[in-house]
Amino acid sequence: MLKSGKLVENSYGVISKTDSIVTLMKDAEASQYGYLLTNKIEFLKLYNNSEKKVMVLLRETEYLIADHQMGVMTFSKIKAVIKGRLSVIKLAITNRQIVDTLSKDQVIAGMIAMQTLNSLVVQALSGEKLLLQERLLAYETFSKSILTIIIISAAVAFAISVASYTKVTSTITDLEALRKILFIKEQETTGLNEKLSAANEAITSANIELLNNNTELANSRNRLIALTNNLANQVNSRTEELALSESRFRLILQVLPQIAWTNTPEGDVDFYNQKWFSYTGMGFDETKNQGWQKVIHPDDLDFNIQCFKTIIESEEQGEFEIRERRYDGDYRCHLVKMAPLKNEEGDVQMWVGTATDIEDIKQLQRQKDDFINITSHELKTPLTSLKSTIQLIEAMQGNLTEKHLSTLIVRAGKGVNKLAYLIDELLYIGKVNEGQLNLNMERVNLMDIIRDSCSGISMATEFQINIIGDENFGVLVDPDRIEQVVINLVNNAVKYAPLSEVIDINFQAHGSYALVQVTDYGPGIPEDKLPFLFDRYYRVQMGGSQHSGLGIGLYISSEIIKKHGGVIGVNSELGRGSTFWFTFPIS
Ligand code: ADP
Repeated sequence: MLKSGKLVENSYGVISKTDSIVTLMKDAEASQYGYLLTNKIEFLKLYNNSEKKVMVLLRETEYLIADHQMGVMTFSKIKAVIKGRLSVIKLAITNRQIVDTLSKDQVIAGMIAMQTLNSLVVQALSGEKLLLQERLLAYETFSKSILTIIIISAAVAFAISVASYTKVTSTITDLEALRKILFIKEQETTGLNEKLSAANEAITSANIELLNNNTELANSRNRLIALTNNLANQVNSRTEELALSESRFRLILQVLPQIAWTNTPEGDVDFYNQKWFSYTGMGFDETKNQGWQKVIHPDDLDFNIQCFKTIIESEEQGEFEIRERRYDGDYRCHLVKMAPLKNEEGDVQMWVGTATDIEDIKQLQRQKDDFINITSHELKTPLTSLKSTIQLIEAMQGNLTEKHLSTLIVRAGKGVNKLAYLIDELLYIGKVNEGQLNLNMERVNLMDIIRDSCSGISMATEFQINIIGDENFGVLVDPDRIEQVVINLVNNAVKYAPLSEVIDINFQAHGSYALVQVTDYGPGIPEDKLPFLFDRYYRVQMGGSQHSGLGIGLYISSEIIKKHGGVIGVNSELGRGSTFWFTFPIS
């Protein structure tokens, strides 16, 4: 209804503003004509007011008419006519100011424009009035129905109020019932609350007890943690100590000059030291488990396995000797020792084994045994001969001719000399061994020494001994010792080159040294034996036959020459003979 009233108001506005516009345009027209006819400026006052007001009214009317299409179209035409007319009036006034004349055409144009405006305004007004009637009708309709609407609204409001009242009343009743229930519940709740507080108290005291227990538990836990830590530290340090002692133990085994290894309690090898690998030339994988058996001499293997088994079963230390193969294929005798490592309960934890190379000791022992055998044999031969000679003299006492007796005495003398020589050698090697070889140096003639050395031998053998050298070669030596060396070399030539017939002895000066050479033309000595000839107890075995001798003559000779500051050596060729030579400083 309000909107409808507003539209009615608009229509009235449009009609009144259109009227005003027409009136103002008429004023402007009249004022123009007044000025054009009189040329008096006062007439223009009305024109000036009218123009501005018309423009304002046009804008306002345009606004009011905006919702009415027909009106908008008619009004835009009115606006165009007014604008056109106003500009023509303006032009006419300007012309009048310049030319000072009134154009008949202008008057006519003015009249036509005004007629057009009138007819457009009539059209607009009639349209608007029609619209106004429609709007008034609508407005009336709304005005009439408003009362009915108010009555219906009041009825509805009343109905709502009644319904609300009923609702509120029933709600109040419900509330009252609820309040009663609430009261009962509250009472129950109070009872429950009391029980709850009693329970709470019980819980609190239980909680306090629990707290105490917890504290106690925390203390125990802390003590346990401290104990565990302590234990862990002890275990750690014990483990470290063990690892250290284990690594020390392995290090000791590594630096041992012997072969060393360890076995599990069952006897499996789980470690070898470096010496084992360098001796056998084999790696761990090759010799682990039963691989070590490859190293044992086939003839000793059964014995080795048996000894090993016996020791493992006895759980006590033991030892045995076997031959083990070196990387170059040589078998050398080893002393194997095995010892168990037991824990406090006496259980075997592991076995430690060592193998010591005793080949050299064995050889020395063999040499010593040989030496004792040979020495006994060597001593026994002249002693037997001496014994039989003496027995013969005793048996034939009184019946012996002088010639016979002297022959026997010479034979006995030879035996005694031989014995004395052997005993001298034995005593002498003792001295050499103990480093007690002293020299009594004298200035002597070398030719004399060599002749003296050979005199006995020449008489006793068929050998031709040629001595070539300076008769007046004076030297500073221990004559007895140099004589001993020459006798030894010539004796050896006689002994080992029996078919030589000739022995040549040369001596001469070589710078500040004297060089003496003893040459025989016997079987010679194999080249591979030459480096060992001057070793103690060394004897060359040739053709299966064993020549008599202690294997110490050349050794003693080399010690005497060394003591003099000289050198001893040999050149030999098989089948052609040998030349033994030695040097010493002349003075
Ligand atoms: P032995 O007392 O046994 O003779 P030696 O030390 O004097 O000991 O000699 C060592 C070895 O050298 C002898 O066993 C012998 O085989 C060898 N020999 C020494 N001289 C000669 C030689 N002139 N011809 C061949 N062999 C020799």
